[in-house]
Amino acid sequence: MISRSAQPTSKGGPGAVRVLVVEDEPAIATAIQHRMAAEGWQVDVAADGPSGVRAAAELHPDVVVLDVMLPGMDGLEVCRRIQAERPVPVLMLTARDDETDVLVGLGVGADDYMTKPFSMRELVARTKALLRRVERAAQLSETAPPAMTVGDVVIDRAQRRVSRAGRPVHLTPTEFDLLVTLAATPRTVLTREKLLAEVWDWVDASGTRTVDSHVKALRRKLGADLIRTVHGVGYAFEPAE
Ligand code: CA
Repeated sequence: MISRSAQPTSKGGPGAVRVLVVEDEPAIATAIQHRMAAEGWQVDVAADGPSGVRAAAELHPDVVVLDVMLPGMDGLEVCRRIQAERPVPVLMLTARDDETDVLVGLGVGADDYMTKPFSMRELVARTKALLRRVERAAQLSETAPPAMTVGDVVIDRAQRRVSRAGRPVHLTPTEFDLLVTLAATPRTVLTREKLLAEVWDWVDASGTRTVDSHVKALRRKLGADLIRTVHGVGYAFEPAE
């Protein structure tokens, strides 16, 4: 079922922020579309998983708002396929907090999560934070040295590639930014609040679980020994000798 509604009358000229919303509940999709159009953003809506994947490939959105429960293909698979094609920030919408926990545990690769019902104002704020991070990462990659080596981990910030002991590791945009932030000060404990501010550009500390989920994903991909948990405080990057 293709039910994408790319409105030719959408606001926003060339260079405008382009958002893809993948959501099968018309009331929610429409509310998001209207709220984000009011920001001057161009918003396209896909109402099922497969058309969401196609729309992402065709439209090259700057950010994707993705519902988890979708007809045709669930949000996890949609997220994987979109990210495999091109690194793009994904904000995932879940029905319940415990569903977020499950997704976090799976290390799906979403950059942020919001549980329904959510406020449109909060959604826009979180989306803006994601966009700022992408912009900053692009600036960083222009000025970054070709590669930094910490222990047996090589981080190429210009290419946004990572390897450990010569083995390439595929990271999502957020995982990459988190690794760069941790590795910039090896053996130094960074609080979750500091990581949230640096990597996610958040001021409040409501998303510390998001930090935990991304640390979990980094450990799974790079090895459990690389990031030390300091209970009640935060995390430290511990390069191999
Ligand atoms: Ca749904």
